[in-house]
Amino acid sequence: AQQRYASIRDKPAETLDGQTVALHMNAGLMADLPSLESSGAEGVGLFRTELQFLVRNKMPKRSELVALYARVLDAAHGKRVIFRTLDIGSDKVLPYMKPNDEPNPALGWRAIRVGLDKPGVMRMQLQALIRAADGRPLTVMFPFVAQFEEYRAARAEVDKTIAREKRLGHRLPENIEIGAMLETPSLAFAPQKFFDEVGFLSIGGNDLKQFFFAADRENERVRRRYDTLNVSFLSLIEQIVERCDRSGTPLSFCGEDAGRPIEALCLAAIGLRSLSMRPASIGPVKSLLRRADLGEVRKIISDARHRGDQSVRPAVMDYLRDQG
Ligand code: PEP
Ligand code: MG
Repeated sequence: AQQRYASIRDKPAETLDGQTVALHMNAGLMADLPSLESSGAEGVGLFRTELQFLVRNKMPKRSELVALYARVLDAAHGKRVIFRTLDIGSDKVLPYMKPNDEPNPALGWRAIRVGLDKPGVMRMQLQALIRAADGRPLTVMFPFVAQFEEYRAARAEVDKTIAREKRLGHRLPENIEIGAMLETPSLAFAPQKFFDEVGFLSIGGNDLKQFFFAADRENERVRRRYDTLNVSFLSLIEQIVERCDRSGTPLSFCGEDAGRPIEALCLAAIGLRSLSMRPASIGPVKSLLRRADLGEVRKIISDARHRGDQSVRPAVMDYLRDQG
């Protein structure tokens, strides 16, 4: 399949009406890195660091993490890698951690909540990232931020870690960008000051959708019940785009839907200019974007909304069919 898209690999995802969408890839293991070259991705938009914790049977040492992150950065050859700090707890339990018996793990003590309440592991991870960068630029993203204060507290941890590393004589990254994932509806309604302060945002559509529709992403009975192209969900995303535009906050979308061509097209039509997906999706998404006129798709979305359609999918599919 990669071969089929080889001819557009080095071309931009530029639409017929001249809009360019940056396509990044999601990764989590060293083995994913060669895809950065073969897929033509601009960078790693989401590096899920928990995978490297999950494949072991004991807590990795800081020195092991330094070596690992350094190898990831080496393999990226200067392309940007967005490292997401550990997103575990609840259902993603580490074999070497005490399991928490929680009635609703997805709504439980996970991700940044664990990172802030028990900061030991997060601090170790931040130190390892700074040391691995060894003077190179570094990008860190915090998962599951539900309110401004959590971002502030996480950011303060970064600042403390930087100061400590400096005292210890380590080289600091040439530049550090700190961002957050927007995966709970609450964060979309955070004070404007949050949008001004956060370095960048990435919409975690998998979780955002699950919480927006109150439909468990792991439950086969309900996980496909609501369409990502549901007009209500698109409205939420549109509002996030507007708020980010107002504050000049870089915004991306890194949930699985970014890798589905029709979904990607609609996300671009409502204003997303950066998407991150599994490497194999980059070709198909780019191919569709290069044949599309976002202005026309935007009009179709708006017409569907005015008609009271539940999802814009049928109208967009009709349009694409007519296009041939
Ligand atoms: C998401 O929630 O959309 C996301 C990208 O994070 P994860 O799938 O790892 O929860
Ligand atoms: Mg998530």
